[in-house]
Amino acid sequence: KPLTIIITVIGVIAIVALVTVAGLQNRPVFQKYKYGIVLDAGSSHTALYIYKWPAEKDNNTGRIEQKHSCKVKGKGISSYAAVPEKAGMSLTECMQEAEMQVPAWRHQETPLYLGATAGMRLLNMENRVASDKVFEAVEKTLQRFPFSYQGARILSGQEEGAFGWVTVNYLDDRLKQGLQTTGALDLGGASTQISFVPREYDISESPSNAVAFRLYGNYYNLYTHSFLCYGKDQAFLKSGPITISDPCFHPDYSVTRNYNTLYDSPCVSERKPKVAPLNFIHTGEGNFLQCQEVIKSLFNFKSCKYSKCSFNGIFQPPVQGSFGAFSAYYFVMNFLNLTDGSMSLETITNYVANYCSTPWNKIKKLHSDINEKYLAEYCFSGTYILTLLTEGYNFNTETFSKIKFIKEIKGSDAGWTLGYMLNLTNMIPAETKDSPPLPHA
Ligand code: AMP
Repeated sequence: KPLTIIITVIGVIAIVALVTVAGLQNRPVFQKYKYGIVLDAGSSHTALYIYKWPAEKDNNTGRIEQKHSCKVKGKGISSYAAVPEKAGMSLTECMQEAEMQVPAWRHQETPLYLGATAGMRLLNMENRVASDKVFEAVEKTLQRFPFSYQGARILSGQEEGAFGWVTVNYLDDRLKQGLQTTGALDLGGASTQISFVPREYDISESPSNAVAFRLYGNYYNLYTHSFLCYGKDQAFLKSGPITISDPCFHPDYSVTRNYNTLYDSPCVSERKPKVAPLNFIHTGEGNFLQCQEVIKSLFNFKSCKYSKCSFNGIFQPPVQGSFGAFSAYYFVMNFLNLTDGSMSLETITNYVANYCSTPWNKIKKLHSDINEKYLAEYCFSGTYILTLLTEGYNFNTETFSKIKFIKEIKGSDAGWTLGYMLNLTNMIPAETKDSPPLPHA
């Protein structure tokens, strides 16, 4: 009997040892990852994203994931036009975090990109010298870090739209499998993008809205458009919150605003009155339908020289298929608890109308934890989103139900940064196997 016990014990020890050794071999500790860093210099803020992928499988789809993100404190880099050094300094903390996050032995080979969007597009239009100075300061900071710095530049609206679409479809694993793709709706502070593969698409009608991709052996004819000045913050300025009583703000809302800050943007500068008081009192009325009328007046539906337009004479084929709506679309709809896909357009509209008519004091009490600047604007923002989607892009009850409001897919944030990096590092092949990489954008 004792012999049986001894043999059993030895057997158990041997099995445990074998399992442990086998387990250790599969432990991720031994997995060698590569890394890439992209800074999204948006109009209202900058965010840093670190991506990682298994070192030996650079070309595999669905393998690249977001490892870490860092929100830069303070405003977007374009807000430092008058003090450019500060634009550079603002990035230091997140860059230091990136140094900690990426293993030191990988630093030198880790590509680092900065892409700026509509905030810098506007500054560049308004004041080229100031925009160049901001970039100089930003470069100086980024070059001080041990990564492989690949440059900082302004993305075109078309690139921003197309790379957002690539990100969403890559993360959903749709590209490699050649599945029906998902459209991308991105709402920033200064611009907004719509990108999708239309049912029928005659590219020659408006070549500037077409982006052709060949990815994993599949061809995609993407329609994309970016509306500068139709991001949430610029649209707010365009809506001219100068009326005595503003339908897009809650009843009882009342705050003193500085007149100049409302016109400090090329999106609205031509509307600036010659004579105006320094300050005025902005009060709310909370009327969804009237707010929607004000917002509709920001879109010009009169002239369209194409078969179909969204607004402002811009060509747009009918929306097609499912869509992912992210960035401020998500922030706003998430706050309003409207991201649950089962709600109809009518239910959502009624909810926003009801929310807008709720007195400001009640809203403040209900959400004492939320920054008042954001809180005050959710009625406007919710109304803007619904109006842009339905009146602007022509989503109807049926097509609206195919929009999902999303922040991330499988742990990686939805936005243009991942698509941008995939393209610049040639990580999506044009062909399925052993093919030359996608040409540089
Ligand atoms: P951008 O900086 O251009 O990417 O724009 C981001 C937009 O999202 C800006 O309009 C911000 O004001 C807005 N935003 C960011 N966080 C929130 C939030 N928690 N609630 C509402 N809007 C937000």
